[in-house]
Amino acid sequence: MRQIYLLLIILVLIIGNQKFVVAQGAVTQASPSVDFKALREDMMRTQIERRGIKDKKVLDAMRKVERHKFVPLIYQRFAYDDAPLPIGEEQTISQPYIVGLMTELLQLKGNEKVLEIGTGSGYQAAILAELAKEVYTIEILPELANRAEKLLQDLGYKNIKVKCGDGNFGWKEAAPFDGIIVTCASGDVPQALIAQLADGGRMVIPIGTDYQELRLLVKTKNKIEQTNIIPVRFVPMIKKKLKP
Ligand code: SAH
Repeated sequence: MRQIYLLLIILVLIIGNQKFVVAQGAVTQASPSVDFKALREDMMRTQIERRGIKDKKVLDAMRKVERHKFVPLIYQRFAYDDAPLPIGEEQTISQPYIVGLMTELLQLKGNEKVLEIGTGSGYQAAILAELAKEVYTIEILPELANRAEKLLQDLGYKNIKVKCGDGNFGWKEAAPFDGIIVTCASGDVPQALIAQLADGGRMVIPIGTDYQELRLLVKTKNKIEQTNIIPVRFVPMIKKKLKP
């Protein structure tokens, strides 16, 4: 009899424990909530501040803009990782540190008109919109241009204009620009962009094909001073003609 009691107790314990394990599993699976704010703060400390981005306004903008809203749902939990991510159409959203570095190089004070070539997800445009007066951004792929335009509208940005077109030609009607940021790699600096840069304006652009240098151009009285900043890797600038 005692043995049967013992057996029963062991059985109850085993079954009870299994139920507990199942319950734990269910809890883990049923709570996909991710603390994006904490991930963003972690990104700021370990990637952005630690690598030397100091401009307070740039730091504030990157703390504010919710990067996970700019990536496809399946990648949201990786949005604050130290890497670029796919955004569809074989394109990528840039690594957070590169966004911070390129933005800081523009030295925005708040009153500028800025042009971005390569809207992609719209994330860089949102960061710029926090720091400048007006942002003009050009994307060559219609799906991405439309998606970014809608998202930026939904997020309430009123100082961003999105255009679908070839950024090699800039945005003549809105020129000159105090800052130009190119987020796809070009073999050389497009002449139209140099022409559309204001006196005293700054341009950041990855130059090269497979291997690229991030280059800063500063225009002073029609003279261009160029400085190479760091080696980078961007998707190439598309030069094909748009379908009619
Ligand atoms: N700044 C983006 C990342 C851009 S990836 C972000 O924050 O998400 C580079 C983008 O440049 C891609 O979306 C690509 O379609 C676009 N692009 C490539 N060639 C272009 C061109 N000639 N004119 C405008 N956009 C171009």
